[in-house]
Amino acid sequence: MKLVLLGPPGVGKGTQAVNVKEHFNIVHLSTGDILRSEVKAETDLGKQAKSFMDAGKLVPDELLLQMMDARLRKPDCDPGYLLDGFPRTIPQADGLEQLLEAMGHKLDAVISITANEEELINRLVLRGKTSGRSDDTPEVIRQRLEVYRRQTEPLLDFYSSRKQLKEVDGIGDIPEITERILEVLK
Ligand code: ADP
Repeated sequence: MKLVLLGPPGVGKGTQAVNVKEHFNIVHLSTGDILRSEVKAETDLGKQAKSFMDAGKLVPDELLLQMMDARLRKPDCDPGYLLDGFPRTIPQADGLEQLLEAMGHKLDAVISITANEEELINRLVLRGKTSGRSDDTPEVIRQRLEVYRRQTEPLLDFYSSRKQLKEVDGIGDIPEITERILEVLK
């Protein structure tokens, strides 16, 4: 099973990703998590990514595409994967499409989890109190939502026109939303 999880910050992608990857026994690739570990390890990539992340901006497409090219070619990805936080821009989606084609892979579906903006802000502010993430402050949250609307939302049309998009309502309790996701994948 090869999946992409799309949705605004705070919609619960990370939480749902864990449940979905366990269900299908596939790897969960969260670009946010991968980048945060690169920052922590002070690698070249981490050093380049940090300032963008702290400002709530996107790390340049070129860096993400290189990183994901290397990652998706590892053997643990052969049985399937769940991409969480990537692609996030049209150039990344184009790059991913080319990469998948080169590897002879095909996405089974792109799941878009939705929630209204008020709910998202409430959840992110709440998470910011305990997450310790440098980008979970009200100012940076606003910026991330703005970046989502401008740069990531166009992917809904991109995947919808390819008949790959499945929408799932992200309001409800966690197991209920997982069920909705598994249902649209049947
Ligand atoms: P959220 O979805 O809650 O905003 P993530 O953990 O997915 O958080 O990402 C955190 C930050 O990592 C983003 O704001 C961005 O700076 C960087 N990032 C993650 N994925 C990508 C990507 N595909 N392209 C560019 N930047 C990314």
